[in-house]
Amino acid sequence: MRLDTLGIDSSVSVLFPPEFLAEQLSDLSIDIDVLDESVGTDGKDGAPATTCDAIVTFEHRESFVDLDWIHSIQAGVDRFPQDRLEDAGVALTNSTGIHGDAIGETVAGYLLAFSRRLHEHIRDQERREWSQPDWDEAWTIAGERACVVGLGSLGRGVVDRLSALGVDVDGVRRTPVPEPGVDRVHTPGELERAVADARFVVLTVPLTDETEGMIDRRVFDAMPDDAYLINVARGGVVDQSALVSALEAGDIAGAALDVFEREPLPETSALWEMDEVIVTPHCAAFTHRYGEHVASIVRENVRRARAGEALTNRVL
Ligand code: NAD
Repeated sequence: MRLDTLGIDSSVSVLFPPEFLAEQLSDLSIDIDVLDESVGTDGKDGAPATTCDAIVTFEHRESFVDLDWIHSIQAGVDRFPQDRLEDAGVALTNSTGIHGDAIGETVAGYLLAFSRRLHEHIRDQERREWSQPDWDEAWTIAGERACVVGLGSLGRGVVDRLSALGVDVDGVRRTPVPEPGVDRVHTPGELERAVADARFVVLTVPLTDETEGMIDRRVFDAMPDDAYLINVARGGVVDQSALVSALEAGDIAGAALDVFEREPLPETSALWEMDEVIVTPHCAAFTHRYGEHVASIVRENVRRARAGEALTNRVL
């Protein structure tokens, strides 16, 4: 792989300034080019990357098909046309492995908000309203059960936090091999059984043909009516209209959602108005150290590419 110039696409600014990543990688003996969206567009959906051998990016652009290597600053690679990149022989790497701490803490925060009623108190505070919960409204998550669907990097971060808070954890993964801290591991085919006694169902799977719409009406019917859905994976994993119906019908108690079938979540969505729904704007993994973590993967792969070794985090 030729690797003289590494581009940093302006789209990384969703998570950190491009110049910050350039600074982090300045110790590498490689030209780093921070690409301004406005530069060099030649009709190919923002084509400045053609002067680079590789690119670090959030979004996909048409011109990237001509490169040797694309690094996605996200774990999910559902933004990229994988078949076309494979045909063109482009190496695609992702940033899985860096989100477990941030996502684990965010998920713990959602659970504690629901149990300790913090989301209600914040709403009351905005209205200067002193309103104590009814005697049976607040609860504790210790001793409750969570079912974590997807036991990869995110799943591990979630399992560690929830176990530490006294939550009993079950999991769903494709091969039912044991996982430390997880009481029972189910396969996707056993999903309805897996969620049947869970107070929280936490989604940490990638969006694939297999997982698209996997959380549907049947799953909501199988969940207890005091259960909460937590989605920090991708919106497409959930049938969102079935979710809204399940919430409206009281088939489940609530949801914390970081990702949606359409982002930003349209103003007209019923989810905005629901008392037992927490909406966060696809930021569950945000941390001021995000760029530093991406830099460590990119640095390692530049080293490997030069040494002729296989890239880490390689998807294609
Ligand atoms: P990962 O590859 O480490 O883990 C994904 C796990 O899901 C793997 O263990 C895989 O075997 C498993 N899996 C795949 N299909 C499955 C199925 N049908 N049933 C059960 N398990 C299945 O990836 P990760 O870093 O944990 O990230 C997972 C996904 O979370 C990403 O693809 C991305 O879409 C999403 N994500 C969201 C945010 C956010 O900001 N909300 C941040 C990071 C990742």
